[in-house]
Amino acid sequence: MKPDLVVCGLGPAGRALAHRAVLRGLTVIAVDPAPERRWTATYAMWADELPGWLPPQVVGATVSRPMAWGTRAHRLDRPYVVLDTARLQTSLHLGDANVVSDRAIQVGPGHVTLASGTKITGGRVIDARGLTRSPARAEQTAYGVIVDVRRCAGLDPLFMDWRPDNGAAPGDPPSFLYAVPLDGERMLLEETCLAGRPALTGAHLRTRLRARLHARNVPLAGDEPVEHVRFPVQGGRPGPRRFGAAGGFLHPATGYSVGAALAAADAVAAGQDVWPATARIVHRLRGAGLRALLALPPGDLPLFFDTFFALPPDAQRAYLSGRTDLAGTVTAMSALFAALPGPLRRRVAAATLGVAVPSRGRRASAMMGG
Ligand SMILES: Cc1cc2nc3c(=O)[nH]c(=O)nc-3n(C[C@H](O)[C@H](O)[C@H](O)COP(=O)(O)OP(=O)(O)OC[C@H]3O[C@@H](n4cnc5c(N)ncnc54)[C@H](O)[C@@H]3O)c2cc1C
Repeated sequence: MKPDLVVCGLGPAGRALAHRAVLRGLTVIAVDPAPERRWTATYAMWADELPGWLPPQVVGATVSRPMAWGTRAHRLDRPYVVLDTARLQTSLHLGDANVVSDRAIQVGPGHVTLASGTKITGGRVIDARGLTRSPARAEQTAYGVIVDVRRCAGLDPLFMDWRPDNGAAPGDPPSFLYAVPLDGERMLLEETCLAGRPALTGAHLRTRLRARLHARNVPLAGDEPVEHVRFPVQGGRPGPRRFGAAGGFLHPATGYSVGAALAAADAVAAGQDVWPATARIVHRLRGAGLRALLALPPGDLPLFFDTFFALPPDAQRAYLSGRTDLAGTVTAMSALFAALPGPLRRRVAAATLGVAVPSRGRRASAMMGG
């Protein structure tokens, strides 16, 4: 029987879509080479991005006012949630969906060909196969350790901390510390390369994390559970037949996508157009934001984020999340641009417009290689 919907890929986006479609009463086929694979990544997002249909138990921890550091401290008036990954995955149950363990090798409008040779047709086919790695795509990388909260005394939850106590030489590609509670007992401490082409390696980030935690009197035993992060932040293409990272739901300048995909899953399941012209322009502007980040000299990053986190909360929110607030995104980017110091502004303008600017002896590209 031809199903209403075929979902290719059961990562957070595809699984949320299939889950919501089943609950709407649609007949669903979901294809993934490893549909039973347990997710291990720690997913976090802003609390206001959580869709109301998710059970509250999926939230592992909430940080009501996370800190961000450029060269100075910024207290963010926006609650941030860290999800319990196992509970999230379980809550996105697939009910009566027909789950096929296979690889989709050709995904077209209304039909899919699997590696086994099986052909599936469906009323709608959505590609949620994520993004493949490529040297042409900037990536986000991080190396994290999970530490008993009692060893983190004095360490505030940190959305990002660019202070230079991680042992990196001035002028080296920068990375920041991300520090969030997983629950009442454990914290994830992660040295993160926001975006790079190529991005910093895990080994490099591990060395920096150790140096940073040593400097902050957070002792490591050496046997802490580790989280490795590496995923492309470029390559998604908005469109009615793709979803999640593959479909342009990943914010290229921050790497976040899970909140946006969960928020849009219902509308996509209902067959609504989730890419109005405003969303497409916002997506392009965020791509320009990534270009600007890739082009900034390393030493300028902390100042750039000082300027960003000094913007009014609404402007920060419009830039960081949501997908359709074009006016808010333009206001945020214009306000940021106007507030940047002169030389930084020139470089950001050139990068945003895709114009090459001589680096005057400084290492071009803070974020590695833009
Ligand atoms: C450790 C770690 C921590 C992260 N933390 C965060 C975070 O805090 N917040 C956030 O927003 N993002 C975070 N990310 C990024 C986030 O994981 C990705 O952006 C997100 O998983 C993208 O979701 P997706 O469902 O679109 O794609 P994916 O998660 O890439 O899922 C794609 C799915 O498609 C399947 N698939 C692949 N090829 C085929 C095929 N040919 N046929 C059928 N199925 C196929 C795969 O098996 C997979 O299940 C993190 C990433 C990592 C690695």
